[in-house]
Amino acid sequence: MPYPSAKRQTLASNSSGTPAASGPRTTYRLLVLVVAMALGTSAALWWTLRQAQDLAQPHQQNDLWYISSVHNELARVSLLARQLRGREASAQDLTDRLDVLYSTLDTSGRGPRVSTQLREALPGTAQSLDELRTLVEQWSEQAIASTPGSSAARPQRATATPQAAVRVAEDISRQSDTLLERLRQAVATVHLFSNQQTDHARQQLHQRFIVLSVVLSGLLGGTALLIAKLVKDARAATAASRRLAQTNRELEDLVARRTRKLEEGRALLGFILDTSPSDVLLTEVESGHVLFINHRLTERLGLKAAPKTLFLPDLLYDLDTRQRFMQTLDQYGQVDAMEAQIGSQTPCWSSLSARLIDVEGQLAHLLWGFDISTHKALEAQLRELATRDALSGLLNRRAFMERSTALFDHCRRHGQPCTVLMIDIDHFKRINDLHGHQMGDTAIRACADAIGQALREADLLGRLGGEEFAALLPHASANSAQQVAERIRGAIAQLGLVSPAGEPVTFTISIGMATNERYHTGIEPLLADADAALYRAKATGRNKVLAHEAAVPSP
Ligand code: GH3
Ligand code: MG
Ligand code: MG
Repeated sequence: MPYPSAKRQTLASNSSGTPAASGPRTTYRLLVLVVAMALGTSAALWWTLRQAQDLAQPHQQNDLWYISSVHNELARVSLLARQLRGREASAQDLTDRLDVLYSTLDTSGRGPRVSTQLREALPGTAQSLDELRTLVEQWSEQAIASTPGSSAARPQRATATPQAAVRVAEDISRQSDTLLERLRQAVATVHLFSNQQTDHARQQLHQRFIVLSVVLSGLLGGTALLIAKLVKDARAATAASRRLAQTNRELEDLVARRTRKLEEGRALLGFILDTSPSDVLLTEVESGHVLFINHRLTERLGLKAAPKTLFLPDLLYDLDTRQRFMQTLDQYGQVDAMEAQIGSQTPCWSSLSARLIDVEGQLAHLLWGFDISTHKALEAQLRELATRDALSGLLNRRAFMERSTALFDHCRRHGQPCTVLMIDIDHFKRINDLHGHQMGDTAIRACADAIGQALREADLLGRLGGEEFAALLPHASANSAQQVAERIRGAIAQLGLVSPAGEPVTFTISIGMATNERYHTGIEPLLADADAALYRAKATGRNKVLAHEAAVPSP
């Protein structure tokens, strides 16, 4: 069953990766966006926190509190100065108050402790405080000027003299109003500056919060998109896996159906091969392991069951054929319709074809054979018929010449004698004329039989034409052949044939004889000599046996 094309396309589109690949790409992009937004949010948060931290630092308020404190202390010093002048306070009270003012002004010993921002933004105010510090230092020194051990540095433990304190109090009273006014202005200025600073910082913080909100919104949006994409991808993956499972099920069904069909096909093929009139064999070249052999070949080999091992060369009976067959197969990888005998006990003829093939990585011989025993038998029969004379059943001229040539050559090679008899019926024409052609044929057949009976098994006898016969007697000397010839002549004379008309039919034969000599290089010259002897026999009265006389005697 063909696989549905729609399913094939679905599989193809999934495997090509176009829609599937775009999903992860978008997800990665969204992930990068979210990471970028998270980093941006972190940066904006840090930026905003820094601003909030700056805002939380109370330096402006400190400055304001500090200047207010200095103002208040200066006011107290001014009041104490007035009280001293009215003898309501002691010099010690003034110096103590001056100490407090000084310590309020300068806790570190390096000058007024105003913030750097204030010093940069309101240099005039800072300068006023510096001047006040110097002034307070001077007042303190003047108040204790007469005290021994006093120095330029602020004395820590000293006793003020009343006169000096009064002078200092008068100086303080003279300058305090101006100083207090300047400090009041400074307080107002710092207050205003502080408010401006705070407003500016608040605005900045507000802006940073806006930026932070925007980035955070972006992060939330990106995260939402990423989650949506992940959910979509997960759904798509679930659907794809469902489709894949369905496709797998269909594929499994298909494979099962195909496997079943294949098995059925294999069984059918096995049945066909088993019942085939051909011989089939599949065997491994190296191990001889039989992969398949059909029943017919098993039977033809005379085996009860299929053999486990069978080498192809062992199947061939004849050694020459085996060599030729295997040589061709090894050289060309195939053999087509070579006639050979298979089997070892009762070899039978087959027309064999073979292939050298690869079966699961192993070289194997595949052999088909057709039984041609009948054909071969017929062929042999035909061949035999082709060699025989139809009337007498003897060898015809061609066959006689072939075989006598071989036999003569054999005798000559082995230095053995052989003699040829040329036999011709005397006045045969008369038989035909007197008794009919049929009678002539009967006479020819009777003559052939009589000659054949007089010869040995090993002798060759043929009808060369008409009423003329030739016999080759191997290993027969001239003398022994002479005796045989005479015996034949006698037998013919006593045949006693009767014509269809009931009349006796008698005839004689003349025989010319020649035994091989050194100069006879072939059967032809020997036959010619025998023929010459026959001619003489005819010429000298017929019904006789004459040997060739003109033969050159052996040295
Ligand atoms: P010779 O003694 O000199 O041999 O005389 P002949 O009559 O035997 O020889 P000739 O050559 O004169 O005649 C041979 C005859 O044999 C001629 C032919 O008609 C006859 N003949 C040849 N073949 C056959 C055959 O197959 N059957 C019959 N009936 N006659 C044949
Ligand atoms: Mg004749
Ligand atoms: Mg003749």
